[in-house]
Amino acid sequence: MSNTDETVVILGAGQAGGQCAASLRRGGFAGRIVLAGDEPHPPYQRPPLSKTYLSGEIDESRLWLQPPETWAEQNVELHLGSEATEIDRDARIVRFADESSETYTHLVLATGSRVRRLPVSGADLDGVRYLRTIADVDALKADFAPGKRIAIIGGGYIGLEAASVAQKCGAEPVVIEAMDRLLARVAVPEVSEFYRTAHETRSVSVRLDSQVAALKAKSGLFSRGKHVQAVKLTSGETIACDSVLVGIGVIPNQELAAASGLATANGICVGAECRTDDPAIFAIGDCAEQHNWLTGTRLRLESVPNALDQAKHAAAAICGAAAPKPEVPWFWSDQFDLKLQTAGLIGQHDTTITRGGDGETPRSFFHLANGVLIAADCINDPQSFMAAKMMILKRAKPDPVALADPEMAMKDVMKAAMAGV
Ligand code: FAD
Ligand code: NAP
Repeated sequence: MSNTDETVVILGAGQAGGQCAASLRRGGFAGRIVLAGDEPHPPYQRPPLSKTYLSGEIDESRLWLQPPETWAEQNVELHLGSEATEIDRDARIVRFADESSETYTHLVLATGSRVRRLPVSGADLDGVRYLRTIADVDALKADFAPGKRIAIIGGGYIGLEAASVAQKCGAEPVVIEAMDRLLARVAVPEVSEFYRTAHETRSVSVRLDSQVAALKAKSGLFSRGKHVQAVKLTSGETIACDSVLVGIGVIPNQELAAASGLATANGICVGAECRTDDPAIFAIGDCAEQHNWLTGTRLRLESVPNALDQAKHAAAAICGAAAPKPEVPWFWSDQFDLKLQTAGLIGQHDTTITRGGDGETPRSFFHLANGVLIAADCINDPQSFMAAKMMILKRAKPDPVALADPEMAMKDVMKAAMAGV
């Protein structure tokens, strides 16, 4: 094959990087593939970290993207535990902290994102944790034990999924959120309210409108004052705790790209094929900002389906194959016995329609813009999720009355809506 002499270097051996390597081989790329990452582990999935791996239901071996030995079988060279520190675009060389280097024909940046640190005094105390990596979870598992008071700062996905695991483990979680509602960045107020009620009825304490002023240590004659003991809010109130878990969002790892002169904004700027302004360099996953066909705006998405989708686009471009079909962005979250599946992107909707009966679930929220379905949040309601995904792709206009009626089968609501497109 004509690409036998080429080398693809992928920086970041995470969800997007791993998929890109696998898709390159599947697409017939016959040259060298170097998959380089700064973590010591083979490529792994992060979603279970705040769910079944945190709760102890699965062990590390269930996190790997594929059995570790299969990378060698696919002739993918893993270069792990080493940070890439410089991209020399003129020479097409990447340099690493371990003083090794790789020359590339194509470079794929899949460097993901890192946690935003809590910017208050006391944030460096013992017992203050974050949740991004296997190492993070291994360090915080002991906090999730019966009777332990865990102050969870941030009411986003991380905070809520961790609160649900904490409650299951018999710990006592308190979620502290700066905004006036949960999931404010990613969900409409109706979904925020659903999750506030769901958590509170399951004994999770939720504190909204609560800004953290400082974290306080044990102090006293015989205490060295290094372990966190309380969260002090700007209101003056103090919440006692045995540990703190911070989940206040992430920052894209784009500095390496920016230092090499590539365009960056809220992420590394890429075009339709996930190509940067240097035709030899691609960026995919959490670190990439791209025009989104659904919203018509430039976005950086933080989700597994997006990482996989962009990885496949970059691999297809490198292999000279046709681009995969556009996908509807989707997300999921597991909390308690509630599976949230979200299709599409909110933001431009003018109407939200709720579908559900008397029970807590199934319950779904459909978001319309000028009658067109653009997003849906479906809780324990996979039929609505699947139907919504298809209708969003076709820009269908479902009947709002039928959508709201749980007695109307979703497949019939969809059939009628699709007939009109
Ligand atoms: P990552 O998977 O983060 O991989 C990037 C890798 O690059 C990392 O290993 C990083 O250390 C490495 N790296 C960075 N800089 C360098 C460098 N200079 N040199 C070498 N290596 C470098 N999404 C969902 O859709 N559903 C979920 O339920 C869900 N749950 C999640 C739960 C948790 C706890 C977390 C943290 C995330 C979750 N996500 C979920 C988000 C999802 O995991 C991310 O969107 C996805 O991992 C992004 O893939 P990525 O490859 O872009 O980044
Ligand atoms: P997130 O979804 O951005 O939520 C963080 C929340 O913390 C936001 O509501 C944020 O409010 C709030 N916050 C910010 N600063 C605060 C402060 N000082 N005090 C109290 N609250 C504060 O991020 P995350 O939950 O940390 O998740 C991190 C990453 O993991 C994201 O990429 C996320 O998508 C991913 N993840 C995904 C899933 C899933 O898809 N199921 C599960 C877990 C993690 P503002 O909006 O005002 O900043």
